[in-house]
Amino acid sequence: MDYHHLGELDRKYVWHPFTQMKEWAEVSPVIITEGSGCFIKDISGRWYIDGVSSLWVNIFGHRKKEIDDAIKGQLDRIAHSTLLGLAGEPSILLAERLIRLLRKSLIAESRPPLLRVFYSDNGSTAVEVALKMAFQYWLHKGVTGKNTFLSLNRAYHGDTLGAVSVGGIDIFHAAFNPLLFKSFKSPAPYCYRCELGLDRASCAMACLSEMERQLEEHSHEIAAVIIEPKMQAAGGMIAAPEGFLIGVQRLCTKYGVLLIADEIATGFGRTGVMFACALEGVVPDIICLSKGITGGYLPLAVTVATDEIYNAFLGEYGQMKQFFHGHSYTGNAIGCAAAIAVLDLFDKEDTLNHLMPKIEILDRWLKRLLRLKHVGDTRSAGSMAGVELVKNKETREAYPVEDKTGWRVVLDVRDKGVFLRPLGDCIVIMPPLSISEENLTAMLSRIEDSIASVTEKPKENSAI
Ligand SMILES: *Cc1c(COP(=O)(O)O)cnc(C)c1O
Repeated sequence: MDYHHLGELDRKYVWHPFTQMKEWAEVSPVIITEGSGCFIKDISGRWYIDGVSSLWVNIFGHRKKEIDDAIKGQLDRIAHSTLLGLAGEPSILLAERLIRLLRKSLIAESRPPLLRVFYSDNGSTAVEVALKMAFQYWLHKGVTGKNTFLSLNRAYHGDTLGAVSVGGIDIFHAAFNPLLFKSFKSPAPYCYRCELGLDRASCAMACLSEMERQLEEHSHEIAAVIIEPKMQAAGGMIAAPEGFLIGVQRLCTKYGVLLIADEIATGFGRTGVMFACALEGVVPDIICLSKGITGGYLPLAVTVATDEIYNAFLGEYGQMKQFFHGHSYTGNAIGCAAAIAVLDLFDKEDTLNHLMPKIEILDRWLKRLLRLKHVGDTRSAGSMAGVELVKNKETREAYPVEDKTGWRVVLDVRDKGVFLRPLGDCIVIMPPLSISEENLTAMLSRIEDSIASVTEKPKENSAI
């Protein structure tokens, strides 16, 4: 179908997520028709580097033969059957593989291993499952009153109402306030703009003390602390200082609340290790995984819990202790087959070792970038990075929102063949783990050019 016609149909019928559709309708959309490796191609034949892994999901590039084959192979058997009342081969095999991987990756003395896999469809549902599980765990244990959660300011855990209730990004979440349950919030470890007005060199992580103060006062009301380990991604690529994550786990233990690790963005190698919790020897009570789990192919998620939690739900039929939660596509066979292929690829391609030199390239570039006049801060954890643009570097004054500085950089670099999506004025860089050093270097230099040319030259008007 020709470009013009498709573009018109898109504007007429498709309501895009997180998008001001009035603006969207004013420009011609880029319509993607094909992908190969870390590149995506639009309908006019232009190729772009997929610089944000198709919104943080892609690991091994597009049309990866092994994943394609696994999906085709599964299609020749069955696409989907339910986990309500039936078991399925791919969901069994994937669960076993995930547990082995989690046990190998996350080890800590005196912390029990994650052993029980609950399937759902996407990151938000994995978080809903974790919240309901944690809440009901305490009820089954005979502990009442733990009716809420503690999360961080600037947290992002998904867009369903439970996940939004523990979210902390005002522009996404504030409008829905009347619909949300109350939760406790503690400061984000956002050192560049410290909520407590302190300096990292001398703060002794006062943000953790603030969390402790809340737990001291309210732990009898709190079922769990939920965090994005190491990197608050959607909140603006906020990388926690070393010691923050393990500090949170210590506080959870001390005050008798569960720890839920939302590794939906950080999981599957993004931070340079398989799971970010491993960076500080943390083993949560519940972990949420999605995004990279199928290599960016299909919607699938898991919420994995310890036996302590699982066992609390056991009982006689009449006691009605079972976990009342499930989705139509829970444990989807094609998704699970893709995920097994992804785990095979991590082994076969030794992905994490090959990632190391790329992380070094990224780190060196991020350091160098600080020389630019309007780059206020650069932050990263492994291969996920953010570049915060500011109007005034001395005062850290942000650009006015209407300037759409982040967007202008992203549109400029799109013309240079790189697709990115910013978070306000934070330029997010998160290519597929499989990107070559050559393509990574090329992408970074184009991004650098665009940042310099957009922020250091007089502004022109541009849409979106
Ligand atoms: C993306 C994301 C989610 C939500 O996942 P969806 O699949 O978009 O529902 C939750 N938590 C974190 C940390 C994420 O990055």
